[in-house]
Amino acid sequence: MDEAVPVPALFEGVVGQPGAVDQLRAAGRRPVHAYLLHGPPGSGKRVAARALAAALLCPRGGCGVCNTCRRALAGTHPDLIMVERTGAALDVEEARSVVTRAQRLPVEASRQVLVLTDLHLAAKAAPVLLKTVEEPPPGTVFVLVADDLPPALATIVSRCIQIPFDPVPGAAIVGWLVGQGVEPDHAAAVAHASGGRLDRARLLVSDAGFAARQDRWRSVPSRLDGTGAMAVVVSDELLVSVDEGLAPLREQHARELAVLADQADQMGARGIQGRRQIEDRHKREERRWRTEDLRFGLAILAGMFRDRLVAVAESGSTAGTPGGSGDRQRAARHVDAIEQASGSLDRNANEALLMEALMVELSGMAG
Ligand SMILES: [Zn+2]
Repeated sequence: MDEAVPVPALFEGVVGQPGAVDQLRAAGRRPVHAYLLHGPPGSGKRVAARALAAALLCPRGGCGVCNTCRRALAGTHPDLIMVERTGAALDVEEARSVVTRAQRLPVEASRQVLVLTDLHLAAKAAPVLLKTVEEPPPGTVFVLVADDLPPALATIVSRCIQIPFDPVPGAAIVGWLVGQGVEPDHAAAVAHASGGRLDRARLLVSDAGFAARQDRWRSVPSRLDGTGAMAVVVSDELLVSVDEGLAPLREQHARELAVLADQADQMGARGIQGRRQIEDRHKREERRWRTEDLRFGLAILAGMFRDRLVAVAESGSTAGTPGGSGDRQRAARHVDAIEQASGSLDRNANEALLMEALMVELSGMAG
């Protein structure tokens, strides 16, 4: 029933979130003082925040096509203020400047929209923000964005209309890609590699080296020849290949800066406002991309050893091959080692050391 309702172009970029889109549309029609968009990374919250800002700034309530909507969607409207942390979290000083900023009058629209990203990391700054978020000046609307809701944020959370986001279902990503003209098999492969993250799917689909990089991971077991030298070569190649995979993200970042620089020029500004914050975010996005790409590669590798485990178990149970249990133990150990390495990526481990140790382990030299 809901699927029959045409979704306005404004929220086209918010994929696989019918509940959130309904709420966003309602918010555009009858705005309140503060919204909180929360859900896992890559579920489309940032895109949704801009679309909501467009709905709040557009004189026609979010037509999706006017100059105001277009600039809001591109993140270049002067009354859309994206607040990005510069350090590991939004600190108290940054929170104070948000409070000051909220008191200003809008530049050209009837209101201004302050989008605060990564609120889940702003537990220390939250008390500074609380009063203003609770009761901002009439011309200011807050759109808070968080990956999750730690208990320390309970009070500020309770002052906002909550709009929850779910991980994007694989089928929705495939459907969206096919709708953009992507061939179905490629769309399915990209959706699988995206891990339910639309931002990742968006970049992978334009990545010419995507298939080759997957093949490189698949070739690992056959290339390791038991020598330490080869383990180092393979590990280096995998890391280089992860670097190569960063190209589409870097291009996207360069485009974003170019648009903002153009806009600054047109407004006679001396440079991009908040450039450092934007560049910090780009660095964080690159780090996250690397981690996810490595983790995806490791999952391919673990899958291969898991297949081997099944194959050995089956042949062992029927033929009772000598050495079958040794093979099985080795494959099981390899799967464990890969999963451990994958888990360590979360803890900011040194990637090069980690990968090299893993390749040595997979070479069978560790016993
Ligand atoms: Zn509009």
